[in-house]
Amino acid sequence: MANIQWFPGHMAKAIRQLEENLPHVDIVFELVDARIPLASRNPEIERLIKNKPHLMILTKSDLADPTQTANWIRFFKANGLPAIAVDSKANITTKAITKITQAVLSDKLATEQTKGLKERPIRAITVGIPNVGKSTLLNRLVNKRVAQVGDTPGVTKGQQWLRSSSKLSLLDTPGILWPKFEDEETGQKLALTGAIKDQRFASDDVALFALRFFRSYYEQALVDRYKLSSADLVLSDVDLLLVITKKLGMKDDYERASDRLILDIRREKLGRYTLDRKEDDQDGQ
Ligand code: GDP
Repeated sequence: MANIQWFPGHMAKAIRQLEENLPHVDIVFELVDARIPLASRNPEIERLIKNKPHLMILTKSDLADPTQTANWIRFFKANGLPAIAVDSKANITTKAITKITQAVLSDKLATEQTKGLKERPIRAITVGIPNVGKSTLLNRLVNKRVAQVGDTPGVTKGQQWLRSSSKLSLLDTPGILWPKFEDEETGQKLALTGAIKDQRFASDDVALFALRFFRSYYEQALVDRYKLSSADLVLSDVDLLLVITKKLGMKDDYERASDRLILDIRREKLGRYTLDRKEDDQDGQ
């Protein structure tokens, strides 16, 4: 699984664009999926954005396990990375993101003020892997009604600054990064959440991964959804998949049942979940 390049051509262009835009922004908003804060992180992000201040934004927090999200936020903060969780479909976020952004940049803004520079909106760019929620968050932040900012310093031709508030401007084109495929499990996490729709990951493998995972962390959700008995719960993952296949009325078509299980999980039929685990007592690593 190692060294698989995802959309190599597009990536080279995306990196070039990001490198051109970076000098013009004050801060990078790095978006990760709150259900997979590690698997949806680009492994080279730190190198790509160099020493730019950056804020971790855990998107889709409405789909993730709230306890886990809180643990992840604490973990990132403990490692010097300010972090915030958002549900871009809800009507909040702009104020919260503006506030934390100002806090992250407070030293820089204070220095500018003591130099007598005019107050100006903070300039930010969103970056993240495909489907992590960049456009949705951008639309939420910019609220669509707000006019574009015409006279800020040059960025890549054809791109524009969008005004979120008097305090925050965003580049209209997000930076696109690629997910890591360092191991099979990372790929399965990306596939299960719908971050990638990739033929490389057979649905029965992803379904077995999902079963193993839900049995460990959210067993009741499985029991409720598929009406499992206590006898079913002692079966192997493969046998349990066959039981579920039957319960779904699909005879022995476990591939179809696998697709259904994955879809059920993606469509929140088994409730909220977090695949990358961070337990409360894990502070550092
Ligand atoms: P992009 O490729 O990073 O720009 O991702 P999009 O903004 O197109 O979002 C991908 C999918 O995730 C869309 O179906 C969005 O509706 C959904 N999405 C984005 N943010 C959220 C969120 O905070 N909560 C939920 N439930 N869905 C979201």
